[in-house]
Amino acid sequence: MPAPAISRSLAPPKDEIILPAELPAFQTQLLGWFAEAKRDLDWRRTRDAYRVWISEIMLQQTRVAAVLPYYQRFLARFPTLDALARARLDTVLRSWAGLGYYSRARNLHRAAKEIVDRHGGEFPRRIEEALALPGIGHYTAAAVLSIAYGEPHAVLDGNVVRVLARLGAIRGDLRRPKRWRELAAAANALLPPQAASAAGPPSSPGDWNQAMMELGATLCTPRGPQCAACPVARWCRAHALGIALRVPAPRPKPKPVRLALSAAVLLDPRGRTLLVRQESDHSTLFSSLWHFPAIQSARPAPEKLSRYLQSAFGITAALEVLPLARHTVTFRRILLAPFLVRVTKLPVPNPSAMEGVRTPRLAEIECLPISSATKKIAAASLAALPRRRQRASSSF
Ligand code: SF4
Repeated sequence: MPAPAISRSLAPPKDEIILPAELPAFQTQLLGWFAEAKRDLDWRRTRDAYRVWISEIMLQQTRVAAVLPYYQRFLARFPTLDALARARLDTVLRSWAGLGYYSRARNLHRAAKEIVDRHGGEFPRRIEEALALPGIGHYTAAAVLSIAYGEPHAVLDGNVVRVLARLGAIRGDLRRPKRWRELAAAANALLPPQAASAAGPPSSPGDWNQAMMELGATLCTPRGPQCAACPVARWCRAHALGIALRVPAPRPKPKPVRLALSAAVLLDPRGRTLLVRQESDHSTLFSSLWHFPAIQSARPAPEKLSRYLQSAFGITAALEVLPLARHTVTFRRILLAPFLVRVTKLPVPNPSAMEGVRTPRLAEIECLPISSATKKIAAASLAALPRRRQRASSSF
């Protein structure tokens, strides 16, 4: 097939990245490639809306390889939407522990309850109803409705935006609201017809959306587009102009923020420690998971931690320095500074200050939903405790 004429203009197209006369061939080419080359992923073997929804939420800001084991374990633990809705939040958070961005798990749980209460336990088919659920934005709604129900909604995520920008050689800030709306219109204009017609190949919108995302995830990658292997290279303006690597323009990376977390690892003679959870933790490092009493500051601050322990728990015991550990959450570089605080009896804090407290054995705190940072603090503490103390903490 001869290559279509490519405009050398860099003027951003509105909603016509591929000329209408070329659209059927473009669609056939991309869908054919997807049918052959798509990765065999667990969530691609189902059209069940619940399972598709779980996969889409887990894949937000998380690599496919990291999601795979969590997806399998989560669905083994909560095989149906009803089972998720009936579960306790702590159980859901524990199944999510290690995947990060815990607001996703809390929203999943809330949304599952709403779906049971308002939609008879079926993920809603109408996009307005899906968008009204906690934690569901346009991308997730379009992905679930198109894949599970064949509804004609185009997805727009980072991969799709990059593919569209390169196909159309669109430069500038793609996140500007006006440009984003144009890209959304362009993505919708590319959706193939659902029924067989002379105008183009039949396909499900779900297949189409996954094909666009797969192209962005595997060939049209941010730093190494494989144009020689690309099934739609002949329609790509950025490739023709030799500017694929410069489109879209890289976004400036946020500067890393460095902070220290001073944490009190309380230990009673029976090897038990104190974990707390506060509503106000939602926006912080602990995402409302169980954690050691701690304070954030620019550098380790044992004096400030002492004052906090005294005011919140009435503890005046000495702080023993434990080995430092490091933790990274997106752009935050966190120095974990644990301090051992030996107490004869664990305190009962003011209930109005804490959402709750737990007193598990230090060696067994993973029975509760805790973050990776809390796990590292516990590991650093256990490694530093004398053998005798470790035996005590694990034998009670
Ligand atoms: S030709 Fe290259 S830049 Fe264009 S869509 Fe394909 S991989 Fe991306």
